[in-house]
Amino acid sequence: MYDFDVIVIGAGPAGYEVASLLGKAGKNVCIVEKAESSVGGTCLNEGCVPAKNFLETASYIKKEAYFQSCGVNHTERTFNISTLQKSTNCLIQDLKVGIFGKLKKAKATIEYDRATFIDSHTIKLENQNKKITAKDIVIASGSSHRDHPLLKLEDETIISSREVFKLTDIPKSILIIGGGAIGCEFASFFNALGSEVEISEFASKLVPNEDDDISRTLKREFEKKGIQIGLNANVTDYSVSEDGVELTIESGKKVETKTFDKVLVSIGRIPNSANLNLENANIEQDRGFIEVNENLQCLNNDNIYAIGDVLKTPALAHVAYYEAKRVAQHILEKETFVGDYIFPSVTFCTPQIASIGKSEKALKERGIKFKNKKLFFKTNAKAKIKGDDSGFIKVLYDEETSLVLGASIIGNDATELIHQFLIAINANLGLNDLEKMIFAHPTLSESSLDLI
Ligand SMILES: Cc1cc2nc3c(=O)[nH]c(=O)nc-3n(C[C@H](O)[C@H](O)[C@H](O)COP(=O)(O)OP(=O)(O)OC[C@H]3O[C@@H](n4cnc5c(N)ncnc54)[C@H](O)[C@@H]3O)c2cc1C
Repeated sequence: MYDFDVIVIGAGPAGYEVASLLGKAGKNVCIVEKAESSVGGTCLNEGCVPAKNFLETASYIKKEAYFQSCGVNHTERTFNISTLQKSTNCLIQDLKVGIFGKLKKAKATIEYDRATFIDSHTIKLENQNKKITAKDIVIASGSSHRDHPLLKLEDETIISSREVFKLTDIPKSILIIGGGAIGCEFASFFNALGSEVEISEFASKLVPNEDDDISRTLKREFEKKGIQIGLNANVTDYSVSEDGVELTIESGKKVETKTFDKVLVSIGRIPNSANLNLENANIEQDRGFIEVNENLQCLNNDNIYAIGDVLKTPALAHVAYYEAKRVAQHILEKETFVGDYIFPSVTFCTPQIASIGKSEKALKERGIKFKNKKLFFKTNAKAKIKGDDSGFIKVLYDEETSLVLGASIIGNDATELIHQFLIAINANLGLNDLEKMIFAHPTLSESSLDLI
């Protein structure tokens, strides 16, 4: 009766994962993506993958000074941004082959077009002016750059994260508006490459969703590297000229006028839901985020699901993958995962930041009695060998049982180390359990043993 069992809108991490899982399980799936070049979504084409390739290169450059003191002599100290862009494009193409392989294995039909709703079982492929139908539909249309209320993007001078990957040279100075994860990552990138960097953050701390200790330490470490930070700051006026962008920045009673070569606007993302004609399928949304129940089904139609950045859940690729798995399980009528999402938050700036589980604030609000332990990397041999012993691991644990409730890390490889605590929380392990384990030496991971 229907053309397909399932139509998936969008081939980002959420979309290709759910399409692949359902196809492999025998469902007849059609995945619709705007163009072949955008398969892989924000994550692969203009998010996680290119950003992390840029950052890895920048952190290598930053560590050069330490390794010179270990005997390495780089005589030609040059960096070429177009070579980095070429290598990033090769990496993207390489990973894209893997996604096409997954979809092929799943025998999924791929349509390159813009999908809109005609009704709750029918999708229109706009360019082809063609209708396709399915029993179930999964919306995985992701998110896009959020515009600043005042500053409009301009080709060369006022840019979003997308344009960073296309820069032809490194700016002498850059103002980053927004001190969240993406803003802080790009601050590290430009700082490592020699730009004068300033962050202008509206909130009273950097990475506002992280533990206060972490935000304070990040601010201190950034300032040591020469990154200027304005908190409680708001851009109230600007003009663009040949000299760059002149901005008026208000911070409390202080009003300053400053000029930068470039401005990077990084104040969050907006869900891609405006052009889907959601009203034709009676799909409810709140400020563009699609409203779903605990099974990620839309409120008025249980045959339509939504996953990934188009939801209010945290805009992270690994959360999108998890939601894809949950929806696949539900459509396949398998037992679905229930309960709280336990996922790491990760920021790949220098020093890196990662956190998991409950924050101090959340524990206090719930009246849970807890203690915290902090272990500084200054005492860890591997951190010193890696040329950066800044930062710490902070673990929150139950006062009576010692069960790990949450953890925050700032420092070397925080985005890898956090998974120890992901496992500890999921397996209900306490600090006492860690004591029985043998960690290799010298490693960053062995720091956890000193928590006992
Ligand atoms: C600079 C940057 C760095 C990031 N770094 C990280 C990181 O380190 N770790 C992390 O976990 N997350 C990171 N993220 C976030 C991550 O990229 C997103 O959470 C993830 O891509 C969400 O996946 P998604 O499938 O929901 O949406 P998307 O990846 O946005 O994919 C949605 C797809 O749907 C398509 N689409 C939209 N509307 C239609 C339509 N009507 N018809 C057909 N196709 C449509 C789009 O073209 C797109 O390809 C980063 C994001 C940015 C911008």
